[in-house]
This record gives sequence, structure tokens and C-alpha cells, in this order.
Amino acid sequence: MKNKCKMKRIVVKVALAMLAVSLCVICASCRLLSSDTEYVSRSYLMMDTVIEIKLQCDREVAAPVFDRCGEIMTDIEQALSRTLPESTVSQFNAAGKVTPDAETAAVLRMALEISDKTDGAFDPTVEGVVSLWDTCAAENRLPTEAEMRERLAHVGAEKLILSEDVLTRADPDTTIDLGAIGKGYAIDRVVAYLESTDIPGGVVSFGGNIAVFGAKQSGEPYRIGLRDPQNTTGVVGYLQMPSGVISVSGDYERYVSIGGERYHHILDPATGYPTTNGLHSVAVICENGALADALSTALFVMGKERAMAFYRAEIYDFEAIFVTDDAVLLTDGLASSDRFELASDRYALIP
Ligand code: ADP
Ligand code: MG
Repeated sequence: MKNKCKMKRIVVKVALAMLAVSLCVICASCRLLSSDTEYVSRSYLMMDTVIEIKLQCDREVAAPVFDRCGEIMTDIEQALSRTLPESTVSQFNAAGKVTPDAETAAVLRMALEISDKTDGAFDPTVEGVVSLWDTCAAENRLPTEAEMRERLAHVGAEKLILSEDVLTRADPDTTIDLGAIGKGYAIDRVVAYLESTDIPGGVVSFGGNIAVFGAKQSGEPYRIGLRDPQNTTGVVGYLQMPSGVISVSGDYERYVSIGGERYHHILDPATGYPTTNGLHSVAVICENGALADALSTALFVMGKERAMAFYRAEIYDFEAIFVTDDAVLLTDGLASSDRFELASDRYALIP
């Protein structure tokens, strides 16, 4: 028992140390902020990632606010997690029927809408395939064709039925995973709460999702460093963020190794395999975190041509940055501004 607790403490410490390293890299604003003496921060290990909140106020004011942010995130995790057995998502996956609370219902509605608008590039019913990869990774083997075919047969957001207050399914083997939208949704809820306090500004960083709110004391916009997928201690460039959320999906963050090969965690719901379309990362910038999160996954799956056509169709209001092997592409709204600044000679900037 004692050993178990000790082990757990070591795991948490290692995770926090890794978090500290990754945050400095993902979010150059952390470095900029540390020169501002007024910021205080707290880190949390939750939702399968490291979260850091930095607030422009003093420690006494921040303490209860940090506590409340922790409660908000715990509630969201308890509803949306696919691994906690009591979560709304797990209850649905086990029983095929659940009555979500109003907020979870709103996330589900949004997930279904985005799935529809992106032609299934973002698909919350990809869960069966996600678990197949988990099982195969544990057994150090690839899924067989038959296994993949069987799981794919139950994928498709049209198999979910969300009425006024109940989520059910047309296919008894369809399961859900809100991992590609949940962190963005949590960021929205935390920022909405922070904006309701008297704290003038800050940064909320959730793995690959970063939100800024309020104004910096210097009056300058926040600057976010976009991590280089091919050299994860470097940055591709910097983005000025006066407000809103940036959400990054990449092939370098989370992956499993099978037979010495890397298989990343963003799956093409059409094939069940990790996407391989030349993109290494996609950043989506918009005012809504849940939308930014889901769209970064969707655009990553679409590939740059389809993603650019999706952007130009103006279905949603967002901007994006695409990183390939040797180029960085910007959507029109970013290309016509001076908000993005390239910082690596590995890449050519293609407006
Ligand atoms: P991260 O969770 O690292 O921020 P994403 O937001 O892109 O990355 O979400 C990836 C997670 O979402 C995966 O771990 C998996 O659980 C799930 N997922 C994978 N592919 C898809 C997809 N095409 N649509 C919806 N969810 C997906
Ligand atoms: Mg996402």
C-alpha cells in the first residue's frame, strides 16, 4: 500500500516535471508572463493532461479562484471522461442511454453539429476504434483488418439520438469519446468563470489548448509560441492573441509505439487509422474553445486542401495554421494580418 502511494507520488511528480517543460515550449507567453511580476499560477493534473492557469492578481485573491477553477474542471471531467466509470460518457457507453445534465447535453449537441458540418472528420463515435488501438498497443500488435472492419461498422454520429434530455443510440455497439472537444469546452467554462471575477486578465493552458482573457498590463497582446512538431523543444513561430483560444492538434503529442513504429492518436474515422496526409500539426484560433478544439482535430483529419476549402466555405468563424514537413500555411484572415511571425528556417511561410 505504502509502495503504491509512493509510486503514485513519483508518477505525479514526473508528470508535473514533464508538464513544466512542455508548457514552456507550447506557450511562449509563459516566458513573457514570467517577466510580469503580477502573475500568479497554479498547475493541475486533470483530464489526462497538465493544466496551468496564470492570473494577473496577487496570491490571496487568486487562491479561492484557483480552487473554484479546480472544482469546475473536476465536474466537467466527471461528466466527459471516457475512462472514469461513473462519468456520463461511460454510463452511456455501458448502457446505451443516459440523461446528461444541461451542459453535457450542450457539448453533445455541439459535437454532433461539428461532426455533421465536417462530414465526419470529427466524429465522437470513433471511440470503438480508439479502444481497439489501446488494446492493440498493450499487446504490441496492429489491429487486424477484420477487427478494424467490425469497429468501423459502429462509427457514425448519425447513430446517436439526442432528444430534449436523453441520449440513446440506434446501434447498440456505438460508443462515444469526447476527448477531442472536452478540453476546449472546459477552457470555455473556466474562462467564463474568470471573466465573472474582478481579475483583469490571465492565461489558461490546457495541454494543446490555450485561452487568453482580459488585457495584459503592458497593453500588448499575448504572444503564443507554436511548437515545432519536428523539434519539440523549438517553435515554428509566434502568434499574437488579443483574445480567444488557440487549439493545436498534432502527430507528435500523443502516440503509441507498436513494433517500434509510432501511431499517433488522431484517427481518420473513414479508415480507423492515424491520419497520414502530410500535416504534422494544425492550430485553430477562434473565440470558442470547444469549437477550436473539435475543429483542430477535424482539420487535421481533412488535410490541408480540404481544410482550406472548409475554411473558405465560412461555416464557422475561425483562423488556422497548418504545419507540414517544410511549410507553414495560414488561412486568409491570418495571412492578411501581421499576427503570425515565422521563427524557424526549417519552414517556408505560404500565405
Ligand atoms: P488532444 O486530446 O491531444 O488535445 P485532440 O483534441 O485532437 O488532441 O483529440 C484527440 C483525441 O480525440 C484522441 O485521443 C481520441 O480520443 C479522440 N479522437 C481521435 N480521432 C478523432 C476524430 N477524428 N474525431 C473525434 N475524436 C477523435
Ligand atoms: Mg481537438
